[in-house]
Amino acid sequence: EDQNVPQRTKVVVIGAGWGGLSTAHALSKDDRYDVTVVEAAPKVGGVVRDGYTTISGQRPAEAGQHGFWNNYHNIYSLFDELGIRDTALTDYAPQGQYSPRGLEAVWPVYREQFPALPTGLAQAAYTKFLQLSPLERATALPLVLAFSEFDNSPQAWQRYDNVSFRDLCMRLGVSKKMYNEAFEPMILTGLFAPGSECSAAAALGMAYFFVLQSQNAFDVQWCRGNIGDQVFTPWVEVMQGRGVHLRTETRVSGFTLNESQTKIVGVQCQTANGGSVELAADAVVFGVGAEALQAFAKFCPELSQFDEFRRFANLRGTSVLATRVFLDRNVTVPYSANACWGFDENVGMTMFDIRALHGSDNPTVMGAPGSVLEVDYYHASPLLVMDDSAIVEKVKKDVDTLLGPTAKQATVVDAAVVRLPNGVNWYYPGSYRDMPQLTSQSLRDCYFAGDIVRTQHGSWSQEKAYVTGLQVANLLRRDITGGNTNNPLTKILPVASDEPHVALGK
Ligand SMILES: Cc1cc2nc3c(=O)[nH]c(=O)nc-3n(C[C@H](O)[C@H](O)[C@H](O)COP(=O)(O)OP(=O)(O)OC[C@H]3O[C@@H](n4cnc5c(N)ncnc54)[C@H](O)[C@@H]3O)c2cc1C
Repeated sequence: EDQNVPQRTKVVVIGAGWGGLSTAHALSKDDRYDVTVVEAAPKVGGVVRDGYTTISGQRPAEAGQHGFWNNYHNIYSLFDELGIRDTALTDYAPQGQYSPRGLEAVWPVYREQFPALPTGLAQAAYTKFLQLSPLERATALPLVLAFSEFDNSPQAWQRYDNVSFRDLCMRLGVSKKMYNEAFEPMILTGLFAPGSECSAAAALGMAYFFVLQSQNAFDVQWCRGNIGDQVFTPWVEVMQGRGVHLRTETRVSGFTLNESQTKIVGVQCQTANGGSVELAADAVVFGVGAEALQAFAKFCPELSQFDEFRRFANLRGTSVLATRVFLDRNVTVPYSANACWGFDENVGMTMFDIRALHGSDNPTVMGAPGSVLEVDYYHASPLLVMDDSAIVEKVKKDVDTLLGPTAKQATVVDAAVVRLPNGVNWYYPGSYRDMPQLTSQSLRDCYFAGDIVRTQHGSWSQEKAYVTGLQVANLLRRDITGGNTNNPLTKILPVASDEPHVALGK
């Protein structure tokens, strides 16, 4: 071997979701790394990938409609780097909240509300709750104590992780009506499971990030089209241009450890055509969710010899049903994005007007005769067992209840049904102790990225997955190639600081 050619560090990234792609992209900026991303699915994007088709086979579909909230500073910075910020995102718009009895609340565009108010007061003053009296809303005040105490530190997580969010609310005296009509819908759509089955720590962290960090925290821009076309394709092209190898339809199924069992040196993969391949690795990044970590714990004895990996057997996901219905006529949809509750017990629901969000010239709606509605259900295992036609019938019934007479006259001419069994992470009470840290505690040069990973950054969902990927790239560079952490590959932007009154409370 030519001694003058520097050896490149072989990094195998498992999973091409936000977390794995983030690490691969960051490392691609340093040519000392030879990065391979291995993805089981046919397309990149993880749980939010596109590449599905409608029942007729004629139209593209994706898993849901994806939003980027005010505090997604790192993803916004990526969009700037890729030059896609203006084209990939919608403008801000008010959002609705519905139950079967009608419109329940309206979330305005908070940055357009004046005067700007301290957080907490701003949401109370500017959110229009149509059914909740000020007295009911006042019962939520004691929660301020919990929000003040929760600072994302491991101690705060341990303090609030063993109790469910519902129990915390009941103990603090939040009224049942306030809980059922304001908090439960937020948890079902933000954490994908009911508050009685979600860690209070996760709920406090998520709600602070998405709603309470500032007056503008809940303002959201949606992906203006298919997320694969708008975001993942241009992003992956940049990485591949810098030499990142991408292997889709390739499932990681086992690992080879060094003789002293301290390090992964080979990643065993199964390809779609039944072949197998082993990739040599100097470092391995697990960019996978709870369900995949659980499978590795169960089926890879080389990993389950370690307590850290055995604990992943406790992790679990919850199911999502993402549907898109194409109607034969335009129906009136007052708000382009809506959270809904009360349609199925313990199931969260969102509804989007795709034509309004993507624009009528977008390939996602081209050729469609009327409205195109995305209706997604969370914690939806009982719905996943229905067949496609029963699901489409149910969706239409829910849309009719939501939108009333004009919707009832419409018929469905095509639909997409995407099932994601156990596809999203479930932050059940006590899950914190089972979740991975950024760096493996038992194997050298082994890391975890994605929204299942413990981090003190304070972000959630896509932003959290993306941030943990950057954190892993910086740690890996420090550990393996002695990179200076003061000069990271990608600077990680913090969630904005607490407002003065919140900091004082804390
Ligand atoms: C319908 C829906 C709507 C959502 N809406 C929003 C939203 O509006 N805003 C927001 O911020 N977040 C949203 N989320 C959540 C967000 O998508 C996730 O937080 C984020 O995508 C998680 O990314 P990740 O990289 O951690 O994991 P994942 O996306 O789960 O990626 C893991 C990848 O690993 C692959 N993998 C697993 N096992 C293996 C294996 N053995 N070998 C190879 N590859 C493997 C998987 O195929 C997958 O591609 C939504 C999720 C869903 C399902």
